[in-house]
Amino acid sequence: IRWTAGRGWHDAELVPYAPLSIDPANMTLHYAQSVFEGLKAFRQADGSVAMFRPENNAARFQASARRLAMPELPQELFTAACEALVAQDRAWVPSEPEQSLYLRPFMFATEVGLGVKPAGEFLFMVIASPAGAYFPGGVKPVSVWISEEYVRAAPGGTGAAKCAGNYAASLVAQAQAIEQGCEQVVWLDAVERRWIEEMGGMNLYFVRRDADGTECVVTPELSGSLLPGITRDSLLRIAADLGYRTAETRISVEDWKAGTADGSITEVFACGTAAAITPVGSAKSTSAEWTVGDGTPGQVTMRLRERLLALQTGRAADTHGWLHPVA
Ligand code: PMP
Repeated sequence: IRWTAGRGWHDAELVPYAPLSIDPANMTLHYAQSVFEGLKAFRQADGSVAMFRPENNAARFQASARRLAMPELPQELFTAACEALVAQDRAWVPSEPEQSLYLRPFMFATEVGLGVKPAGEFLFMVIASPAGAYFPGGVKPVSVWISEEYVRAAPGGTGAAKCAGNYAASLVAQAQAIEQGCEQVVWLDAVERRWIEEMGGMNLYFVRRDADGTECVVTPELSGSLLPGITRDSLLRIAADLGYRTAETRISVEDWKAGTADGSITEVFACGTAAAITPVGSAKSTSAEWTVGDGTPGQVTMRLRERLLALQTGRAADTHGWLHPVA
């Protein structure tokens, strides 16, 4: 679907996958007006196909577009485009457990010019790819590197938007995590450099055992500089459905270390569309290194994971209305 200033959205079409030709002065290449989404379509227990919460991706896409001075695609057009592609590619939606069809809606400037200003022409597209099981050999905890050198997002920046530049800025820290022997980077806030924000492509959760012996499922509050994950939101509600207390609050690296030392933080996991839920087994920073729980996937983590996957595949009742059937 194309957008032209003065004309709005036009020319929606479903075309075979093919390379695009790009003008060297295409404004996206120089000024990075580029936003995207990631969502999945799942084969349901009854054989039908449904997308998981596409309306929420549509809303986040609009928020990302606003932040990047790009036109907002109406939510119905976003969802209809995803639905048309899934209907076309229905045969590519796997039926094996934990597999899915991954959808990548994105929008970028197509105007040609060298002046820095919001472009007047954009292209919105959706591409799809079958996604295999994230953990083919069983769920395996990841190790994380807490980045004290680099910052992903600052107050007033683009951290809450899903824009290409955020990921470009993350790559060097992700490479550093690997050099440090870890698999993923954990970002801290830009101002005090102590509040935990999120992982490279996932939000974080902590399972805290409180003084009364009950468990509370806690995630960093939306600071304005972390991505409001749709899985994060789903899990707040699933945890409540399963009878856990939940909280959105600030959590510092010191809180994490102290909670590990006194046994009050029993589990840590990351969540996002790609892997659903990934347990965190250990953490490392420039000054410390610690294991989370006994380093194996925790019980609460696995219970939440099982319920999320059941909801996505129609094996649990869709009480929140999260499934969008594809006709
Ligand atoms: N944070 C970042 C930086 C991400 O790229 C993603 C993946 N979209 C997430 C969190 C998780 O968001 P979601 O649950 O909507 O996939």
